[in-house]
Amino acid sequence: MSDQTIAFDWQAADAAHHLHPFSDHKSLHEGRVRIITGGDGVWLTDDQGRRVLDAMAGLWCVAAGYGREELVEASAAQMRALPFYNTFFKTSTRPVIALAERLAAMAPGDLNHAFFACSGSEAVDTALRMARTYWITRGKPAKRIVIGREYGYHGSTTLGAAAGGMKDMHRQGAALPDFAHIMPPYWYGRGSQMDPAEFGVHAARALEAKIAELGADNIAAFIGEPIQGAGGVIIPPATYWPEIQRICRENDILLIADEVICGFGRTGRMFGCETFGIQPDMMTLAKAITSGYAPLSAVMVGDRVAEVLINETGEFYHGFTYSGHPVSCAVALANLDIIEREDLAARAAASGEILRERLHAALDDLPIVGEIRGVGLIGAIELTADRRTRRPFEKTGRVGTICRDHCFANDLVMRAVRDTMVFAPPLIIGEAEIDDMVARARRAITATMDEVR
Ligand code: PLP
Repeated sequence: MSDQTIAFDWQAADAAHHLHPFSDHKSLHEGRVRIITGGDGVWLTDDQGRRVLDAMAGLWCVAAGYGREELVEASAAQMRALPFYNTFFKTSTRPVIALAERLAAMAPGDLNHAFFACSGSEAVDTALRMARTYWITRGKPAKRIVIGREYGYHGSTTLGAAAGGMKDMHRQGAALPDFAHIMPPYWYGRGSQMDPAEFGVHAARALEAKIAELGADNIAAFIGEPIQGAGGVIIPPATYWPEIQRICRENDILLIADEVICGFGRTGRMFGCETFGIQPDMMTLAKAITSGYAPLSAVMVGDRVAEVLINETGEFYHGFTYSGHPVSCAVALANLDIIEREDLAARAAASGEILRERLHAALDDLPIVGEIRGVGLIGAIELTADRRTRRPFEKTGRVGTICRDHCFANDLVMRAVRDTMVFAPPLIIGEAEIDDMVARARRAITATMDEVR
């Protein structure tokens, strides 16, 4: 880097010209924006030369860890051979064909058909458009309503935000007709006196009640993340998903699993659907499909829907310039090689056990810690004002933000959702790094406790 570059005021330029996603810009630029300049394994480096343990794998995506030369090579080789060609007009490229075939082989059941896009949001949008088109083609155009869940997150395009259950997003132009929401399977927050198994069935039956209210003839699909990530790592009891599947089948409603976070090993199996024992009609994938090294997403479509779209719909008027981008597909193929070769799903299952055991050992004595939960390498530490009654803090989100900032001060990236600290480290995290992560988390939570007491 030249001296001239070093002298450049990156902070001022960021404040002057860069609009950040999901940010309150005023408060963002009151502090110092942390500028990340490098990454290696589970570690980031910033422009101050500090090493930061990334317990969020970027944004839930860098499964294989930072600094994987193989992925760089795959990208460079494909760029040299063919940096771009589209897949619209009777053309295809080898990387996209190879990836579609590979995903069909990996995906559970009959999810044999892949449609590609660049982001999780676009994949969700695509799945919803496909669901409605499927019913239109089958002569049931009234079946339009999509049911999601409170605290669900399905991305930031308007359809995705409408399907998600984030009220703040709905208030900013993303509340659409023909979307409905049911309660989340959030046992710690909503389970009251029920045991988890009973609560799982209870939460799933909210779908049955919503169907009775709206009419199955008006409902296209139910969409849900196997584990609700951005909503606070809400892990459903084992009874939940099988019951949801039963209800969808009995009412002829398509089941869409949004695996943008759960896919590719995060939950300890290759897909969250496998962890929770369900077979969806469609599945959305993104993030860890390339470990975040290139933008890519996919919708995996089951035979029942695909056959209608392929044989009866005619042209499906939907697609993106970069659907099946050859460079992203080449990176995905190399990344899947790593995930399979290093058995990262099994590794996530084993490391997740160790992580939870260490978290309990380090944090159980802190009265502010209400629940430690996790499956594979996705988890949460829910902070509470009163552990016995599970009473939440008065101003939701304040304590979480304080804790997030203490994590930052300890060079640890964890994210706060309301007052719950969430984590999803790279799947390659080692045992010593788990210990390091837990020690930093304890320091941050203890400092939070001291500050809010
Ligand atoms: N679906 C889920 C479950 C997500 O967690 C996300 C992003 O976090 C999305 C969709 C949207 O993905 P993207 O930000 O790539 O559009």
